[in-house]
Amino acid sequence: MDEAPISCFRDQLQFLERAGEVRRIERQVAAKFEVAAVTKRVDPGPALFFERVDDYDIPVVMGMDSTRARIAMSLGTTQTGLIDRYGAALKEPLAPVEVATGPVKELISTGDVDLLRDLPILTHYEQDGGPYITTGLVVVEDPSRGIRNVSYHRMQVTGPRELRILLLPRHLRRLWAEADERGEELPIAIVIGCDTAQRLAAATWGASIPLGLDEFSIAGALKGRPEEMVRCETSGVRVPANAEIVIEGALLPGALKSEGPFAEFTGNYGGVVQGQLIRVDAITRRRDAIYQGLVAFTAEHMQLQGMPNEPVMRNAMRQILPETHAVHITPSGCGKFHAVVQISKRHESDGRDAILAAFSAVRDVKLVTVVDEDVDPFNPRDVEWAVSTRFQADRDVVIVERSWGNLLDPSTYGTKITAKMGLDATKPLAGGDQFTKAIVPGAAELDIAAYLTPSL
Ligand code: MN
Repeated sequence: MDEAPISCFRDQLQFLERAGEVRRIERQVAAKFEVAAVTKRVDPGPALFFERVDDYDIPVVMGMDSTRARIAMSLGTTQTGLIDRYGAALKEPLAPVEVATGPVKELISTGDVDLLRDLPILTHYEQDGGPYITTGLVVVEDPSRGIRNVSYHRMQVTGPRELRILLLPRHLRRLWAEADERGEELPIAIVIGCDTAQRLAAATWGASIPLGLDEFSIAGALKGRPEEMVRCETSGVRVPANAEIVIEGALLPGALKSEGPFAEFTGNYGGVVQGQLIRVDAITRRRDAIYQGLVAFTAEHMQLQGMPNEPVMRNAMRQILPETHAVHITPSGCGKFHAVVQISKRHESDGRDAILAAFSAVRDVKLVTVVDEDVDPFNPRDVEWAVSTRFQADRDVVIVERSWGNLLDPSTYGTKITAKMGLDATKPLAGGDQFTKAIVPGAAELDIAAYLTPSL
């Protein structure tokens, strides 16, 4: 397996800075709204390094993974090679190794911890309920089953040592529910300052990601070297030794408390809901730690959320249609709801079967557009062209009623279930020459810069 040019967050930041992909902000900015405002205006531009945030001794990095190009180069591949690279990592994970200590242990606070005093935790949107940790990877271990889980959650700061977390019905929610049943705390760690591989792996779910598959083993495979893990100070949970900051604590059993509102990936506010409580027991960090933030409903959010599910969807689809090529979960579909899949059509029914296979692979997806191999699924103009010239609504649409959707999708309001729609925009096999895409000979291969004389 190829090695990626990066091994941790800090490595990736330096790598991207050398590539000219990072801009530094020297002036002092506020953790409340101002970091998010600059990030939003620049989106999806260069990564941003905020050197001075309020009076914190910790700078803040935003938008490191805002573009597909940066994600690909950080993993040592190309934008089109990304899906193969990730697909291979899912099939052949690489288990982490434990090491005695690492940079994340340079400073250890157990007694005197105050989240908002110690860390530049950001407040993002106008109506958000307060400061939120948005890109902390939540790590939990279940020693009795020998499993670890790593996942993304929004976490609201509600006290010096208290967070409230939203657990949608996925792996961590299940592990918490089991502990809750026994009336026990569930030790967790929140890892801040993570590289592309760790972030993508934590964001991956759906078919082929069972509970028990350690997301850090996907990250290791993506980088071509195993993650090095160190043990927490206050529990047996293990975390990447090269992280910037780790918050240690426990998910508490029992009563839930109000959490929210919080502007979600949909660009709407997820209202006040009932969240689990986290008690914070310790913070460990690098001496010169860098805080990593993420503004919901930005390009970075869409990339991290959408891209990992592309190989999941393709791996599943290939069991039905081996000639499934590219899959694109589009940023404009909130990085979750809309997919374009590209197939080589061999039978007249392949387009419809592709739609059903795609829906069964990633449950949040509610619009699938199927295109032929002469259409670029990453180019919205090309995709709409295929729909406008190869699709008829009475013949080529598949609708699945009353299916599972995403609980944060506002359009499911009142029902919490969703309808799904597939558009078969592949050309009919019997259609003949009228569907041949017109090309100009040589146009695709031209070195166009050699033709365009700069004007004065
Ligand atoms: Mn999991």
